[in-house]
Amino acid sequence: MKQVTLLGATGSIGLSTLDVIARHPEQFSVFALTANTQVDRLFQQCCDYQPEYAVMADPQAAEQLEQKLAENGLETQVLAGIDGLIQVASDAGTDYVMAAIVGAAGLQPTLAAARAGKRVLLANKEALVMSGRLFMDAIKENQAELLPIDSEHNAIFQCIPGRLSGNVTEYGVKRILLTGSGGPFRQTPLSQLARVTPEQAVAHPNWDMGHKISVDSATMMNKGLELIEACWLFEARPDFIQIVVHPQSVVHSMVEYTDGSILAQLGQPDMRTPIAHAMAWPERMDSGVDRLDLFDVARLDFERPDYERFPCLQLAEQAARQGGTAPAILNAANEVAVQAFLDGALDFTNIAVVVESVLSVMSSREADDLNTILVDDEQAREYAQESIHQARTRVE
Ligand code: NAD
Ligand code: MG
Repeated sequence: MKQVTLLGATGSIGLSTLDVIARHPEQFSVFALTANTQVDRLFQQCCDYQPEYAVMADPQAAEQLEQKLAENGLETQVLAGIDGLIQVASDAGTDYVMAAIVGAAGLQPTLAAARAGKRVLLANKEALVMSGRLFMDAIKENQAELLPIDSEHNAIFQCIPGRLSGNVTEYGVKRILLTGSGGPFRQTPLSQLARVTPEQAVAHPNWDMGHKISVDSATMMNKGLELIEACWLFEARPDFIQIVVHPQSVVHSMVEYTDGSILAQLGQPDMRTPIAHAMAWPERMDSGVDRLDLFDVARLDFERPDYERFPCLQLAEQAARQGGTAPAILNAANEVAVQAFLDGALDFTNIAVVVESVLSVMSSREADDLNTILVDDEQAREYAQESIHQARTRVE
């Protein structure tokens, strides 16, 4: 029986993970569930899965949860804040840690799981983007297992059989083909992009996801973050990775070999497939996902990415090549800009403008300790706020 800690249990990945766990009660048991502020949802999940621990990042929410659990006679222990998250991610009682907190907030608990030698099921790509070197070293030094949940990286992992670590060129790989749907605005006239609304941006044509990653998919910053993620996971340089726009989201990514073979992983756009794959690995198990009917799919299209439409792609590629803290700066500026867009305080096309301006005022430095990364993250957030303010005053 594997004990599972679920960081970000109330989100989109969290719910899909619990759905997979519920199909295999003989194999998995929930050790801890965590959330930010969603007390009612976490309370319900505690009733359903009876974990040892529940953690609310927000201390007030933790008090409310504790009271609700006590009123209902549940024995789940409640912890609060970042210390609680780190504790359940590294506790000796847990085997697998699903890292599904969104954004930089997930960095420290995810790193703690790696340092404690857990099987880390990594959905929280921002954590790896920020701290790539540190995180990969922690995995190696502590014999942790890193299994990608992001569907593209899970697909790439599946297309390089036998590889858990090491440089992909040792496996005869020539190129990684990272696919992305192009999001909801792939064909929107460029002149209309500045006026698209948050509602339009979060309505992804193929995937049902949290708001932040949905906006990232619409700007294709998500693909840029995934490029950086792939560089770390597969020990590849940025120019080893070709981004391929594939509107149907059926091919989840591909690997090209030196002999001319291209291996692809295909499936429904449903995160339960990569989740079940990573949890069962190296075995396979049922995920609850409908089978893919190729006759329904009928055709697969592939296009080159349009850098004029998606300037965030270029910014991410630039940060990937720069290395050091540049990816953490890019990520922090993007998180702030996306939130401002979701709050109605920034035009969609200004997300890239804000990220670019922050990257241009800050210089990248070595990212080999957590403090440096967190300092640059914080500084980037301040510059991003200033840049948003300037964009607003230009409009008014
Ligand atoms: P979501 O917004 O639906 O859920 C986020 C979860 O994180 C929630 O449980 C929330 O309570 C928690 N959280 C948010 N802020 C927090 C904070 N400050 N401290 C502690 N917990 C906090 O997001 P999601 O779509 O499930 O995505 C989660 C992660 O997985 C992201 O990094 C995303 O890029 C990645 N991912 C998601 C998908 C998908 O299909 N949804 C696919 C690939 C990768
Ligand atoms: Mg993805």
